[in-house]
Order: sequence, then C-alpha cells, then structure tokens
Amino acid sequence: VAQPNVQELDASKLTYTFTKAPRDLPPPGVHSQDGQTVATDHMVSVPWTASGGWGTPELKPYGPISLMPTASVLHYATECFEGLKVYRGDDGQLRLFRPDCNAARMVMSATRISLPSFAPAQLERLMVALMAVDGPKWLPRDQPGRFLYLRPTLIGTQGQLGVQAPSEALLYVIATFMPVLDAPAGGLRLHTSPDDMVRAWVGGFGYAKVGANYGPSLLATAEARARGFGQILWLYGPDGQCTEAGASNFFVVWKARDSGRTQVVTAPLDDRLILDGVTRRSALQLLRERLGADVDVVERKYTIAEVLEADAEGRIVEAFAAGTAFFICPVSLVHHRGRDIQFPMGKAGEGGPLTNQVKTWIGDIMYGRVSHPWGVVV
Ligand code: PMP
Repeated sequence: VAQPNVQELDASKLTYTFTKAPRDLPPPGVHSQDGQTVATDHMVSVPWTASGGWGTPELKPYGPISLMPTASVLHYATECFEGLKVYRGDDGQLRLFRPDCNAARMVMSATRISLPSFAPAQLERLMVALMAVDGPKWLPRDQPGRFLYLRPTLIGTQGQLGVQAPSEALLYVIATFMPVLDAPAGGLRLHTSPDDMVRAWVGGFGYAKVGANYGPSLLATAEARARGFGQILWLYGPDGQCTEAGASNFFVVWKARDSGRTQVVTAPLDDRLILDGVTRRSALQLLRERLGADVDVVERKYTIAEVLEADAEGRIVEAFAAGTAFFICPVSLVHHRGRDIQFPMGKAGEGGPLTNQVKTWIGDIMYGRVSHPWGVVV
C-alpha cells in the first residue's frame, strides 16, 4: 500500500508577508481597544488537511480568519490553545519561558480532541519566528519588564456537520497585550466551587488545555466575582479534593500534622484532573532543588476539610496560585460554605516568604537576571 504523502509541520518553510499598515503601540496600560485585545502586527498560521498533512507556515498581517458556519470548532469545540509570555529582560533581550513545555502540552491537548499532531519543536520555532519579527517593535528594548502574551491556537475548520474528527484544521499563533494580572492588593481571594458544579472529572479532559474546559467555568467565576472573589477553587469528588484555582494551580504551605515539618502541598497530576501548569512544574522543581531538606514538597490529593483542619489547628503558613496570567500570586483567603480560611500575607502584606521566594526565583529567569536554560532567548 502506497503511503500517502502527508507533510509534517516544518517551521523552516515559513514564508513572510509583512503588513503594509503597521499599527501604533497602544499607550502604556492599554490592552484592548473597542473591547478587542490588542495584538501585534503579524500572526503565523498553518493549515492542515488529513490527506496532505501540514501546509506551508505563513507569517502574515494580523487579521480576521474566515470559517464556514459549519466549521467543526464552532459546533464540536475542536479547539485547544496555549498561553505563554515573551519577556523583555533587564538585559534588553527577549525571552520565552520554557516554550518547549507549552508546545508539548499543545500536542497533548490536540490529541485529546482529535486534532492533528506535530513535532513540538516546530511550534516553538514558529513562536520564536513571530517574536523575531514583532518583538523589537512591540516590546521596546528600553522598556524592560514588559511582556507580550503568545496564544498558539488550533481549531478544526472542516465545514461539515456530523460528529466526527475534522479533516481540516488551522494552527495559528498570535501575540497580544495582556494586563499585568499581578497580585491584587491584599492577595487573591478564592471561593470554592458551587456544590452543583465540577470543572473536571476522572476520564474527562481537565488535564487538556481545550476551550471546552473554560466556557462552562465562566458562570461560577462570574458569580464569585460579583461577591468579591477573584477565582474559583475547584473541588472534586464527595470528599472535596482541592484541584486548581481558575486558570492557575493552587499551592498551600502548612505545618504537617504528624511531623510538624513545613510542607508545600499541591494537587497531583494523576487522575488527570488538573492542567500540568508550566509555572506549577517550575515552582515544584525549584522548591525541591533549592530548599533541600528544609521543606517537604508534596504532590498529593488533599481535601478542603484538611485545609479547614489545618486552619483550626493554627498550622497554615501561606498559600499561592501559580500560572502564566497571575504568575505567583499570594492567596489571602479561601471561602468555603460560609467559612473563611485566612492565609498569612507576610510582613509587607505582599505574600508569605515562600511565595515571594518562588516568585523571585522564576521572575529572575524570565527577565534574564540570572542565566538559566528555561529562559529561551529570541
Ligand atoms: N490551570 C488552568 C486550568 C489553566 O488554564 C492554567 C493556565 N494555562 C494553569 C493552570 C496554569 O498553567 P501555566 O502555569 O502553564 O500557565
């Protein structure tokens, strides 16, 4: 049987069509205009078909994409995406933080929803290529500390109704402005998920970064926001396992009941209930490498009842959320069924010492204050 001539994704074939209408940078602090996220001048896109594989990657002016009303993504949520930032370092360089992790996660997400696979390194190269073109203008060299948010997206585009894996897809990468969602003054306030809602379940797709995970979470988040909370702490199962907080992973620091030792606890990846966050992974690794035997770093199932108990027994040390958007963000409060659990916010009220330590370690890599293989220079 002859092998069909199916092309692999190949970033080296990237073609360049530059905009004839370059736009102005938004004023500092402006991230959207007319309700739309501000993006840079260009985007990268690559079409895919089941019969031919990946087409030629194209860097072209940022603008609308055209879809048939019957496109698979619009009906069956055949969509996955990634989110990572490109940072203008203190040394003037542009860096991505562990883009290989995001590219690999994108392949994992795509596979879960029958979208095409590719070699992750090719997506990484496309992101770097887009930043090589748009980075110098949109992240001025003399403005260290600024960043853009890269959003690789993959959608099923085949215009055929009927529940089936799409035979056409589109991969694109855009670079956008995002507000600094830095620690809200006084820390992030979390509300546990409503009793009648669950974000992810065993056998589901909570571990994948698919759009289908996010739309249904908006209702609970909006209700919590209206009541003065920032994010939902999603619980799972009859025992109320703590999983993750909005679009970030959740860490609690407490004194262990048995040993009295300081323990950093976060939900595990097994059962595939949570996203394998790049920030989470990085925090865990650095905590283990750098704190050594002083602190136990534990990935395990833990319940809201355990957090309430630790609170009642005075064993809570601090808590933080970890993710690309909020970075490392101190959590000051978790509200659960009428009870408030307060987390100490440190001497300056800006997060506990461990939270700030992790934030500094990772921030130093992102902004090139220390040289580290996780910081990938454009
Ligand atoms: N959990 C969810 C549900 C998310 O959407 C995100 C953001 N990607 C995270 C956790 C944090 O992941 P990362 O550190 O890779 O941004």
